[in-house]
Amino acid sequence: MSLKSGAGCGGHHAKAMSLESALEAILGSIRPIEATEEASPMEGLGRVLAEDIRSPFDVPGHTNSAMDGYAFRHGDCPSSGKISLRLAGESFAGHPFSGRLQPGECIRIMTGAVVPDTADTVVMQEDVVEADGRVELHDLPRKGANVRPAGEDIRAGELVLAAGRVLRAADLGMIASMGIAAFNVRHRAKVAYFSTGDELRPVGEPLEAGQIHDSNRYTLHGLLSQLGVDTLDLGIVKDDPGALRNALESASAHADVVITSGGVSVGEADYVTDMLAELGDVSFWQVAMKPGRPLVYGSLGNAVFFGLPGNPVSVMATFLQVVRPALRVISGAPYEAPLRLNARAEHAIRKKPGRMEFQRGILRRAGDGGQSVSTTGHQGSGILRSMSEANCFIVLPSDSGRVEAGEWVLVEPFPCG
Ligand code: AMP
Ligand code: MG
Repeated sequence: MSLKSGAGCGGHHAKAMSLESALEAILGSIRPIEATEEASPMEGLGRVLAEDIRSPFDVPGHTNSAMDGYAFRHGDCPSSGKISLRLAGESFAGHPFSGRLQPGECIRIMTGAVVPDTADTVVMQEDVVEADGRVELHDLPRKGANVRPAGEDIRAGELVLAAGRVLRAADLGMIASMGIAAFNVRHRAKVAYFSTGDELRPVGEPLEAGQIHDSNRYTLHGLLSQLGVDTLDLGIVKDDPGALRNALESASAHADVVITSGGVSVGEADYVTDMLAELGDVSFWQVAMKPGRPLVYGSLGNAVFFGLPGNPVSVMATFLQVVRPALRVISGAPYEAPLRLNARAEHAIRKKPGRMEFQRGILRRAGDGGQSVSTTGHQGSGILRSMSEANCFIVLPSDSGRVEAGEWVLVEPFPCG
């Protein structure tokens, strides 16, 4: 899974590239996890299907009523005048009518109960009068009214969920409705991560002069957990070649993917470069996106490696734009470009041409029923609060400049999982 070009040596000559070409290079060089295991519908949420799922039978398996009412044969009824049917029995959910419906007869039927072969229409109970074993209809409903045919949801043999599908709540219910108790999913990717920096302290420890709390590990933990991968937290590692080497070696031995934050800016990159070049096959890139310019990508042993910048917003932006799609593909799902939609800018947005920007936005329903978006204010890459307050990125293409109030901009809602 190593890159075809740009090996890690000479990190000071980081390659400049667009986000698209960085993504293309990454997605083109990774291999999905092959190992599979069995899962049940209860365990399947967020898992990646390793097989196609076809239905062994029609769902629903029998033609059934969509309403509480009376089932009858449409052809038995005159199209005008009084309609009176003899009540011959009942069909409740789980308790079908066992007799045979004769011409001019109807049965009491409940929602989900089997509609007998000889009936084809259900009249709602609100539209009839039942007395003395007979049912009178005010109006004749259209033929087939309130009847749900067998297989209306899923046809026997139909491909319902394709391999690579990331299972969602509705999928679990569908799998259960097909009576499938076990199916194959890919193993979860195991992702090891750590923060680098002499200034970092974990929460729970007091800060000394010049120190800050490590926040990146916590946001990464959240982002990875939302993706449903297995995580391995390797803590904080000092800006020390020996410590870094140990951490990288242990991470790559235990995980499919290694993610670090910090230590890749120009000043720091130099010593990290030499070590990464020694341990694996990695490249330093200057990705033309803001926030998040420096990015290290490659392989360490059998693990895929992402070295993210240290600034907290850059970590999240590069994770969401680059690492997340890569992790999906590593997990066995096909690449899916994130949905982006149009919204009106509520105010002018500052932007210089040259880099693609991911400003933090608050997307809301506008008075006209469409969407409008405002920025969260100061867009510095150290303002983590901008990510916390935002619900979307405002995606500004690299060649675009200032946006005026009322103009359309592209927004990308943050993923929920
Ligand atoms: P670096 O990429 O290591 O030069 O870090 C860039 C900026 O991000 C510096 O201000 C760091 O203090 C800050 N930073 C790096 N790692 C973390 C972290 N884990 N949590 C919070 N801030 C960090
Ligand atoms: Mg640092």
